[in-house]
Amino acid sequence: MAIYLDNSATTRICEEALETYLNVSRTQWGNPSSRHGLGKEAEDLINQTRGLINQSLGSRDGTVIFTAGGTEANNLAIFGRAYAKPRYRKGGKILTTQGEHSSVTQPLTALMNEGFRVVAIPTKGGELDWEVLEKELTPDVVLVTMMLVNNETGAIYDLGTVSRLMRANCPDGVLHVDATQAYLKIPFTIKSLGCDLVTISSHKVEGPKGVGALWVSPAVVKNRGLAPRELGGGQEGGYRSGTENVPGIAAFGAAIRKETGDRDTRIRQNTALSERLITGIATREGLSEVRVNLPPHRAPHIVSITLPKIKSETMLHFLSSYGIYVSSGSACSSNSTHKSSALVAFGRSEDEADYSIRVSLSHRNEMGDIDALIEALKIGLEKLSRVR
Ligand code: PMP
Repeated sequence: MAIYLDNSATTRICEEALETYLNVSRTQWGNPSSRHGLGKEAEDLINQTRGLINQSLGSRDGTVIFTAGGTEANNLAIFGRAYAKPRYRKGGKILTTQGEHSSVTQPLTALMNEGFRVVAIPTKGGELDWEVLEKELTPDVVLVTMMLVNNETGAIYDLGTVSRLMRANCPDGVLHVDATQAYLKIPFTIKSLGCDLVTISSHKVEGPKGVGALWVSPAVVKNRGLAPRELGGGQEGGYRSGTENVPGIAAFGAAIRKETGDRDTRIRQNTALSERLITGIATREGLSEVRVNLPPHRAPHIVSITLPKIKSETMLHFLSSYGIYVSSGSACSSNSTHKSSALVAFGRSEDEADYSIRVSLSHRNEMGDIDALIEALKIGLEKLSRVR
């Protein structure tokens, strides 16, 4: 049996979500825009998931726009905000962090080429640089887009404080939170973050792939503060045209229901697993040169490790031959020759980033999985440093 320790890349769909997907596809396959009974059933299903998302974020009245995943929700938030008012195009400023996911950095690069000013706040040691941030929070800021949990280091950023600082300094500033790695993994609410836009993705929480959502605050809707991305039939309040993925959205709802009910136990379990890993690396003979990249506030399900001069790809394949699956840096980008920008921002050299692996946990893991990983790491280090 394989030991899957790559849960931040994706998770296995839970039975409840899978069953919902099949049942809805078989029996409630109407188009939610159709005005007959079958259409109404489909509309009710997606509205139920909207309600669950609002509830899980501690909100009652947010607008939930369904998308084809976290990437699309991030693109909608960033381009949608930037294009909301013509005057933003004349030198509007956008703040972000160093080490964001490519679905944030690439839209920002495109906007920079169109004349927006983009500033990435340093995140050395896994913490926002408050001095730089406070200096950059000027009245011309139209968007602050930051992840709540970094997908490579597991660092949790204090976005509640960011939103408080924004309120005092940026009248047009809207806070977008990429919560793809945080949703249902650490406790937070819209109120605790003070944010206006939130990205979530279904396949990180045992829902199906290719489904996600952007939560939008009533204030942004009222001020017409977000422009649509996909134009067409006007679905999703006109923000995202295209017939909704009804079975996927209903299944996302089933996964949220399951994950919300079990959340506190799962958080405790991930904490215990990650502590065993961190302690194991610190105490196991033969692993003294392995470093854990520990941020001051860390999510319990992500642990980043830097190996002594062994390429992550090499170790990844070695572990894979033992049936243990981890990822190098961030799996979302590891098809390319990408060097982890988050680890470099954290303070590792480019080479060290190349020697780093990410272990990401779920409630499906057991203590024995961690022990097997530690043992395999030890054997791998011995073998691979001989051929180095
Ligand atoms: N943001 C972060 C922080 C992520 O980790 C990911 C997924 N790797 C995404 C966005 C993109 O989500 P999706 O895979 O649903 O497009």
